Amino acid sequence: MSQKIKIRLYFQQNLSTLSQIVPSEEQLHYLNNVLRIEDGEIIAGFDGQSGEFALRVCKTGKKNLSLLRLDKLRNFYLPPDLWLLFAPIKKDKTDFIIEKACELGVRKIVPTITKHTISDKVRLERYQAQAIEACEQCRRLEVPEISAPIQMDELLKNWPAERKLFYMDETGKGENVISAFHKGYAPAAILVGPEGGFAPDELEKLAQQDFARGVSLGRRILRAETAVAAALSCWQAICGDWNTKGE
Ligand code: SAH
Repeated sequence: MSQKIKIRLYFQQNLSTLSQIVPSEEQLHYLNNVLRIEDGEIIAGFDGQSGEFALRVCKTGKKNLSLLRLDKLRNFYLPPDLWLLFAPIKKDKTDFIIEKACELGVRKIVPTITKHTISDKVRLERYQAQAIEACEQCRRLEVPEISAPIQMDELLKNWPAERKLFYMDETGKGENVISAFHKGYAPAAILVGPEGGFAPDELEKLAQQDFARGVSLGRRILRAETAVAAALSCWQAICGDWNTKGE
């Protein structure tokens, strides 16, 4: 049933406690004007806490509609505890990073400012909207938290020591990605540098941290957005949930 429903929406309200849901203005616009949804159509809704439900569209006027909650389609599932730390880059490439981080099951996204980060505008609202759209599309049952941008130094100062920080080191000095991830650390975080790479003193500082481990993604230099997708994919395959099936 869940597979057949093509339209999925994210709600901030706890759907399990509501029998009728009033969509937000944006959702109303999307349902009415983009999809031209009809009375009686079934869509799916998820809320980041209680799973996924079938929702029936009840048109109450030309533009007004509400959603009647029907059966639960899937139980809630939280992906493995992986964070992505990335240095914001150009707008469309950052959009790509947010989308891929959602599809690849990251639990938290942290825009991290390094010395060579040139993107001065971190568009948090835009990232959040992108993340919701990506999660609706990829059948995730929650949306990752996106934290406010933070300087890398600050981040390291307050780092939770039990979380392994894998920083992608383009200089080739890191351990190869397969053996680094095979050690099976969780919780974990993956840090990818900006287009200009990490500054030498940043790499030195990272290397000094007990919780950090430098990782190499092979002999070719990848673009930052490629490195994000490659590192997350390797982690999900080796330590994450790619060996399990979903509902
Ligand atoms: N301008 C730099 C490359 C930066 S690539 C140069 O020419 O050397 C952007 C980021 O992607 C890097 O900071 C690193 O985190 C990651 N990355 C790219 N290729 C990588 C590789 N082969 N191994 C590990 N990390 C890599």
